[in-house]
Amino acid sequence: MADRAPVPVASAHRRIRARFAKAPSLFLVLDFDGTLVPIVERPELARPSEETIVALTSLTRTPGIRVAVISGRGLEDLRGLLPVQELALAGLHGLETWPPIGRPSGRIDVHRLRADLDRLVLALKDKLGSAEGPRIEDKRHAIAFHFRGIPRAAAARMRTALQAAFRETAERSSLVLVPGKEVLEARIAGVEKGSCARAMQEKIAPGSLAVVLGDDVTDEDLFVAFAKNGITVVVGKPKKTSGRYEIERQEEVTPWLREVEAMWRETHPG
Ligand SMILES: [Mg+2]
Repeated sequence: MADRAPVPVASAHRRIRARFAKAPSLFLVLDFDGTLVPIVERPELARPSEETIVALTSLTRTPGIRVAVISGRGLEDLRGLLPVQELALAGLHGLETWPPIGRPSGRIDVHRLRADLDRLVLALKDKLGSAEGPRIEDKRHAIAFHFRGIPRAAAARMRTALQAAFRETAERSSLVLVPGKEVLEARIAGVEKGSCARAMQEKIAPGSLAVVLGDDVTDEDLFVAFAKNGITVVVGKPKKTSGRYEIERQEEVTPWLREVEAMWRETHPG
């Protein structure tokens, strides 16, 4: 983690613009929940605003800019939520991508992965008995266990049960249990947003300057991957982050995306 606090994008306007001016092209990498849409109690109800869709559409139509959204959601889910042509998408933290990036994900044994996930859920149900459990979101190649809205003490008991179930089944499985905002997600080891976004950049925007926005633990992989040659922006006020810049409130993201387009057009006229 970086040992210095991130700088608000507003106070870094000139510095960022200067980097834009030197860049041949831009690769914008955006997380979805908590970045393009506010965090809501029920993620299935989250929808990007019209304003956000318009801003994204405009960016994808700007010469020299490529835009990718990379999320823990499944690819199909993202597609439905983001009716924007020319948008590159990565689902399940990079396990599924559009366009395909020819990564080793082809080697992933999805049958084994599914069996490991099923075994974990059974072990959790076994631990909980008749007690209530976290809300289970099955993403086919990953399972999210949601604790949002559950009273603190009950949520703590459920987390302990889940971690115990994971330890019991982990030895024979390909899974990792990854924390997020009031969620623990079981997914295949070795897939993370950072390496996925780098592979996407190579494929669809080689030589570009990357601008990366995210708000959660899994986005830290992105910030690390682009620390040296990208502009990394954390949304919200995390205690620890490797993000170099920050946008304090999610509502400020879309206005800043419009500013990104404006800065790009100013520094690359014609
Ligand atoms: Mg997020």
